[in-house]
Amino acid sequence: MTHRLSEEHEELRRTVEEFARTEVAPVIGDYYERGAFPYDLVAKMGRMGLFGLPFPEEHGGMGGDYFALCLALEELARVDSSVAITLEAGVSLGAMPLYRFGTDEQRRTWLPRLCSGEALGAFGLTEPGGGSDAGATRTTARLEDGEWVVDGTKAFITNSGTDITALVTVTAVTGRLADGRPEISAILVPAGTPGMSVGQHYSKVGWNASDTNELVFDGCRVPEANLVGERGRGYAQFLRILDEGRIAIAALGVGLAQGCVDESLRYAGEREAFGGAIGRYQAIQFMIADMEARVHTARLAYYDAASRMLAGEPFKKQAAIAKLASSNAAMDNARDATQIFGGYGFMNEYPVGRFYRDAKILEVGEGTSEIQRMLIARELGLPA
Ligand SMILES: Cc1cc2nc3c(=O)[nH]c(=O)nc-3n(C[C@H](O)[C@H](O)[C@H](O)COP(=O)(O)OP(=O)(O)OC[C@H]3O[C@@H](n4cnc5c(N)ncnc54)[C@H](O)[C@@H]3O)c2cc1C
Repeated sequence: MTHRLSEEHEELRRTVEEFARTEVAPVIGDYYERGAFPYDLVAKMGRMGLFGLPFPEEHGGMGGDYFALCLALEELARVDSSVAITLEAGVSLGAMPLYRFGTDEQRRTWLPRLCSGEALGAFGLTEPGGGSDAGATRTTARLEDGEWVVDGTKAFITNSGTDITALVTVTAVTGRLADGRPEISAILVPAGTPGMSVGQHYSKVGWNASDTNELVFDGCRVPEANLVGERGRGYAQFLRILDEGRIAIAALGVGLAQGCVDESLRYAGEREAFGGAIGRYQAIQFMIADMEARVHTARLAYYDAASRMLAGEPFKKQAAIAKLASSNAAMDNARDATQIFGGYGFMNEYPVGRFYRDAKILEVGEGTSEIQRMLIARELGLPA
């Protein structure tokens, strides 16, 4: 067993590393401070094929695999998490449900544009009343004259309000099962459909150059053919999507944690105190050594989860472990990196302050750390 990258994966990693260093790093701080969406960077990422990485060429993709997407996310997040989450949500939440569960017609209609990065897809699961307890969905969709009529509100939806947002797939209650539990299905709603409006655009602690909005559905009608996957399978489908997505978020967290090591190493060699570089002091060296150890173990955890997924083996527990380890590493490394930077760590002109603000959401999005622990405990056979 090896965790060395293949030639193709290493070439992709190097290409994205170069793009992030030369094209994202110099400009992203400005977008972040203005809370502006980086359309030009997203367009470049589209031209590089990043949005089509794990999809077959017949759908407009690059014919790569999910691990390739993870490597790209890691390299982007090493420099900035807003562009990384835009890619992650666009691919693993926006396009993947259609690729995995959509009809031929849905794939033909939507995937080429989503793979090119000219259009973004979104995934609407969370509601104002709760995200962890996804089975408690309140949004409804009822069939009327051959159309789904969607009513409800979705909260915190990434990529849902940009100028290039093309669609959102939402989970909705479409009936009741024999045992009284809600029947949940997934419905595709194209952007601009009357009855769907972009509500509150959130002011966030981090990920400030990414797009996050509330979506409101009020008698929103779409054709019956916009059901994604089987009726009543919406819950099982999004569990699969979230299992995969956790590996992608873990890669993103590893990138952020690695970015903290990169910046700290550089600064520890340059900054002087008491007559020499601060990197001479063991307190600083130990902090950097701990940061490196965390990022290394978290990286191995997501490589392992991804390789199991690609081999068609069960990977739920490994994905949850990878996300938990990686978000912990990101939080701890961001705290230590800002400490190493002293007062400058609190200034927006240095990336470590941005890393500090961006790390927290990794313990929350696509399943909180408590939910990851619950999943791991269940996989170990402990009672639900
Ligand atoms: C910037 C951003 C982008 C997002 N993008 C998307 C998106 O694109 N699509 C989407 O659908 N959602 C998205 N989300 C939502 C995100 O997935 C949810 O915020 C997350 O799943 C947690 O749900 P919640 O916020 O409702 O917290 P809650 O579910 O209300 O949880 C609150 C607290 O209670 C804890 N908790 C809940 N249940 C239990 C339990 N049984 N045992 C122990 N502790 C428990 C949680 O761990 C948490 O600490 C995004 C969120 C943010 C902030």
